[in-house]
Amino acid sequence: MPSSHEKKRRRELLADFKAQERANFRAAMPISAEILRELFFFIEREMGKTGCNHCPTAARKFLKSHDLNEKSILDWLGEHGGFCDCEILANVREKWESNAEVEKRAARADWEAFGAILDKVPDVPPMSGDELP
Ligand SMILES: [Zn+2]
Repeated sequence: MPSSHEKKRRRELLADFKAQERANFRAAMPISAEILRELFFFIEREMGKTGCNHCPTAARKFLKSHDLNEKSILDWLGEHGGFCDCEILANVREKWESNAEVEKRAARADWEAFGAILDKVPDVPPMSGDELP
């Protein structure tokens, strides 16, 4: 059974790993959060008028009018499942919002209290399929 010191260390590693994942997502964003938010608003407005034609038409229009790098941004949106306007809203905005929300929550987390709760969890091997990669 791991010592409480070892448990604490594992907890910190996991918290670091999750924070790193969120930071990577943010760092890989080819545009700022503000512009990204404007892009989502723009697409929403355009789609309200014309619907989605299964191309990133509104996204392209926005990027052009803001003189942004169309290719790298469309590639990034595609990497996150946004290959057309409606997918950008459904997949990328969803991912981006949940990432931002988790970052906000993590910033005000009480890690001591979190640790105290985890300490009550019995120390047994993970169930099959639950192991860390
Ligand atoms: Zn679509």
